[in-house]
Amino acid sequence: MAKETIFSKIIRRKIPADILYQDDLVTAFRDINPRAPSHILIVTNLIIPTVNNVTTEHEVALGRLFTVAAKISKQEGISEDGYRLIVNCNRHGGQEIYHLHMHLLGGRSLGPLVV
Ligand code: 5GP
Repeated sequence: MAKETIFSKIIRRKIPADILYQDDLVTAFRDINPRAPSHILIVTNLIIPTVNNVTTEHEVALGRLFTVAAKISKQEGISEDGYRLIVNCNRHGGQEIYHLHMHLLGGRSLGPLVV
């Protein structure tokens, strides 16, 4: 059993968050420190620490991240203008929470990806 994370506490409703979607595989909620008008985190319910820990067993849950991103982008009214999906991995990727998640960012022009 992986160590509990802030996100697993949100998934289990032990700490509050603005949850937009939840099913058996993923949970989506608004980022506490939004970097765009819509900034949503879509998190696997299973604690997968980083992309480096991904296996074929996770493929259905990881695919669900994309179908939920598409669904929420429509709900947010940003699908036509577009948005950015980001998954950070480890230190150089700027990962802060070691529980695999996808950032959905939109609602303004994000410009080119600057690193
Ligand atoms: P990372 O850098 O790991 O890809 O992104 C972690 C994200 O989680 C950051 O954008 C940060 O603002 C967000 N975050 C950290 N703690 C919390 C929290 O307690 N609640 C919510 N909703 N977001 C959080």
